[in-house]
Amino acid sequence: MSTGGKPRVLLMHPILDPGRAVLAEVAEVIDYPNARPLDEPSIRQAAEGCFGIVTLLKDPIRETVLSTPGLKIVSNVAVGFDNIDVPTATAHKVMVTNTPGVLDETTADFAFALLMAAARRVVEADVFTRQGLYKGWEIDLMLGTDVHDATLGIIGMGRIGRGLAHRAKGFNMRMLYYDPTPLTPEVERQLGVTRVDLGRLVAESDFISVHVPLTKDTLHLLSTPQFGQMKRSAILINTSRGPVVDEAALVAALKSGRIAGAALDVYEREPAVHPGLIALANVVLAPHIASGTVRTRSEMSAMAARNMATAVRGGRPPNLLNPELKR
Ligand code: NAD
Repeated sequence: MSTGGKPRVLLMHPILDPGRAVLAEVAEVIDYPNARPLDEPSIRQAAEGCFGIVTLLKDPIRETVLSTPGLKIVSNVAVGFDNIDVPTATAHKVMVTNTPGVLDETTADFAFALLMAAARRVVEADVFTRQGLYKGWEIDLMLGTDVHDATLGIIGMGRIGRGLAHRAKGFNMRMLYYDPTPLTPEVERQLGVTRVDLGRLVAESDFISVHVPLTKDTLHLLSTPQFGQMKRSAILINTSRGPVVDEAALVAALKSGRIAGAALDVYEREPAVHPGLIALANVVLAPHIASGTVRTRSEMSAMAARNMATAVRGGRPPNLLNPELKR
């Protein structure tokens, strides 16, 4: 279980400073072997004898891992935790923590960056210019879509969705949102947003940005019927989780001109990207970097390490997702 009096903590992947130092103060840090696959039996084997595991969103943490004797906590370095089966963790009395709040503004920045890039064809324009294809100003060269004054539909009006709304307000966008939990009328007024159902949101929006967690209810929330209701000029932005969008249906909608474009940070079968997306010029693709700034990733690392350290010291981790375990 421990050597030198300190419990063992399995660190699945390197994290940024000061995360490791925070862990090392209270635990013996065991690095997951670099070449070992990220499957449950391999993780379970490495977790034997460990008090806790520090995970990234690509690590599958379900029954096989969560039933490891002596395991007390899984600390995910992400706000999303769909890689962890929380009810099963609770059944095994394993605490689960995440890193909410520290990445909201950074992720909203990137969602807006993707929106702008897709609307104004920034990536296509860069490639075009580098290839030496720019031969002089033309009235119809690489025309895009206006962002200012356009209608933005925000699906999932939580921390990051609200962060996006703050930005869009500066562009004088009309904003609709869809969320089972309404904002207070005061917050709606402050942000300038109107709550609608999903059908109306997809039908009226020029840009649609997704900010829901991945759950059984949000799996393929956007699929063929929703693409069928969108404007032909609509652009979809997804910085949430890949499986929220039916990728095959998205490719079909983009190819047929049913919608105009997309900008994606996340994919249904990460790190694989649907070949149909790769082939399309009207799509901007990023490798899941929406929270990827030095400051934010450092803060996420520190927060995950502090969640773990608090548990090692016998306390209640600040970002506990199954609070019923520590009343
Ligand atoms: P949050 O919990 O603050 O907000 C999520 C919102 O979605 C809530 O308001 C909730 O009511 C709403 N929601 C839940 N189910 C819904 C449904 N079926 N339809 C519509 N709305 C629904 O979460 P957050 O911090 O804003 O993060 C949102 C998600 O973004 C995370 O769960 C994570 O998966 C993803 N994320 C991705 C990155 C990235 O790097 N690409 C970074 C941060 C977060």
